Amino acid sequence: MMNQYARVVVDLPAPGIGDRYFHYKIPKEFLSQIQEGTRVMVPFGSRKLLGFVVGFDSSPEVDRVKEINRVVDPFPLLTKELLDLARWISDLYISPLVEVLKAILPNFYATTKPKEVTVIKLAVQQKEALSYRDKIKRRAPKQAQILEVLMQQKKIPLQDLLQVSGAGRQSVKALQEKKLLIMDRERVMREPFQQKLFGLSSRLQLNPKQSELLGIIKHKIDKKLPGTILLHGVTGSGKTEIYLQAIEEVLKNGREALVLVPEISLTPQMVKWFRGRFGSLVTVLHSRLSQGERYDQWCRIREGEIKIAIGPRSAVFAPFTNLGIIIIDEEHETTYKQEESPRYDAREAAKKRGDFYSCPVVLGSATPSVEAYYSAREGKDLLISLKERVEHRPLPPVEVVDLKEELSGGNRTLFSSILYNHMEKVLSRKQQIILFLNRRGFATFMVCRECGFVLRCSNCSITLTYHASQDLLKCHYCHHEKRVPEQCPGCGGSCIRFLGLGTQRVEKGVKDLFPRARVLRMDMDATTRKGSHQDIFKVFQRGEADILIGTQMIAKGLDFPRVTLVGVILADTALNLPDFRSGERTFQLLTQVAGRTGRSSLGGKVIVQTFNPDHYSIMAAKHHDYESFFEEEISLRKEFQYPPFNRLIRVVFSSLSEKFLSQKAGEFKGMLERSLRGIQAEILGPCPCPLSKVRGRYRWHLVLKSLEFAEIHRVSREAWQEFYKTAGNREIRITLDVNPITML
Ligand code: ADP
Ligand code: ZN
Repeated sequence: MMNQYARVVVDLPAPGIGDRYFHYKIPKEFLSQIQEGTRVMVPFGSRKLLGFVVGFDSSPEVDRVKEINRVVDPFPLLTKELLDLARWISDLYISPLVEVLKAILPNFYATTKPKEVTVIKLAVQQKEALSYRDKIKRRAPKQAQILEVLMQQKKIPLQDLLQVSGAGRQSVKALQEKKLLIMDRERVMREPFQQKLFGLSSRLQLNPKQSELLGIIKHKIDKKLPGTILLHGVTGSGKTEIYLQAIEEVLKNGREALVLVPEISLTPQMVKWFRGRFGSLVTVLHSRLSQGERYDQWCRIREGEIKIAIGPRSAVFAPFTNLGIIIIDEEHETTYKQEESPRYDAREAAKKRGDFYSCPVVLGSATPSVEAYYSAREGKDLLISLKERVEHRPLPPVEVVDLKEELSGGNRTLFSSILYNHMEKVLSRKQQIILFLNRRGFATFMVCRECGFVLRCSNCSITLTYHASQDLLKCHYCHHEKRVPEQCPGCGGSCIRFLGLGTQRVEKGVKDLFPRARVLRMDMDATTRKGSHQDIFKVFQRGEADILIGTQMIAKGLDFPRVTLVGVILADTALNLPDFRSGERTFQLLTQVAGRTGRSSLGGKVIVQTFNPDHYSIMAAKHHDYESFFEEEISLRKEFQYPPFNRLIRVVFSSLSEKFLSQKAGEFKGMLERSLRGIQAEILGPCPCPLSKVRGRYRWHLVLKSLEFAEIHRVSREAWQEFYKTAGNREIRITLDVNPITML
């Protein structure tokens, strides 16, 4: 007999061991049901575990093979395509297959089942039911009432029947015993939108440029041409309308569409447009769906009932089988890369799926990632752009304030006189203000207050971080150290200061200057409580506060018509993060902030305070000029050999104790170096991470840099597996981050 042994992966993660499957015998009665991707329950030691069938063999690998206990789902939850995608991710990002499967099927390790309800139908002809009803009308009025209801409705859920008729279960039972009605079980869908109606959103007449670009996308859809299209359009240029009409084309062709957004709770507008245009063909896959809802949405996609899914990163795994387009909005957002294992990038997974289905992948952004833009400009992908807002609306003015001049003028507060004056004006008009600070204000760096000079590492170009305990400046990539200079290397002046700033300090500053203003603060500390993020937004929206102080997270949700002033308190904290992408992040952040203001007739203004007004990221954001930002950035990337000119793998070591961390990281580097002999590769570090302690664990890292990706990939995987074979290494956790997106 063939293939009666199944390879099953079970949920038993073990670091460094990689993936192991176990053999189980398939009982005869299950043979026809089990395919690759089927969930099964299997005995494991004394326990029973949930597992996935990932393959078959005709003979067992071990002598005594146990049998599969049962099949969990009526049909395999995973398609072959998704299972192969999981394998590809597991391999590329060096994560156990089980972990990838868990990311694909969130919550699915719990055995969610289809929901069924009992329904009641008449078992006899209407006429017969009628005559019987008349017969029992007096004697059993409740039963008569039930028949009455059933004569009007062909079929009704038991619960509803009881409610409508006012009868009890025993009456139903009595009728069932007389064979007058049938009880049945029937599947119902748990539907997240059930009660909500959406207003229609009618299609807009595209302007000529939008039409032209839509034509290009439609051509790819119709001809089933795979490949990436980068849609670079300034904020407010009408990208969403292009997405919507492209999807219409996809539906016309009988195919399906997947739309990824950075975070669903921050894009209610987009969801509304989609529901308004496509109604119940759309589902939203967000993290707050209940397990049951998620399961049912999954099944409805699987069964072809739903044609369009919108969701964050994990929605890239929606189980469509006939995709005609994949759209990734705000392509540059870091949330598309998962920051825990499996550290997959949804953009890469989307491209893989696009190739499989031979359909285009559209990346949309006002500030494309450097990698995406480079790839398009080199001709690997297709670049299309919208350089103007719809209806020739203007882009909002951005004013840059040089803090050096403020200082030399004697102003030592956090607020330049320009920002202060504008704040005063806005408050007196009873409008609102948002003050903005970079989230990671933890790194203190050094800046010359006369010329704006910032000390950077000569090897890595990232900003050096000041460590007060040793009074040293350190590079968090290569461990280069430097004493604090007495004079500024830029201008020879003696006015070098350290900068680092938190939202609390800004709050205090505001309260000192504007004691009567009502101030809200939103940052990690203020929003750890679930839901409070939305609460703060609501309070602000209702106009119960005048000033909102916050970090990155407020940039995305910015849609407050009464906000007419946005102040960026200190752009330098973003600019000088010890990360080679800090220039890119700063440009994106400022552009995003600017793009969200001044949307109402009240107008709006952005004021950016900085010691580095001449920095290319700030200048380009001020002029809404992506190309000039890109030119500067790409030449730096080239000079220091960062992506897209190189591939990176980051290795993070963490431990509850700091004791052996540097030593073990050094040993690991030694292992890497031995295997990398003869290969062109560079290793930066090891050294402490910029975020040197997270949730009680100390952190170090090192970074492999090479164009020979296959080699550094193989070598780091092998070293990782080897490392865990030594018993003494267990308390150290090593994570590999392939193509890392943050280096903090
Ligand atoms: P983006 O996503 O590019 O920032 P949006 O898609 O949010 O821009 O569009 C900005 C606004 O312009 C929206 O209110 C949208 O309804 C409107 N809009 C889009 N296309 C057109 C058009 N052709 N004519 C008029 N308004 C449009
Ligand atoms: Zn360095």
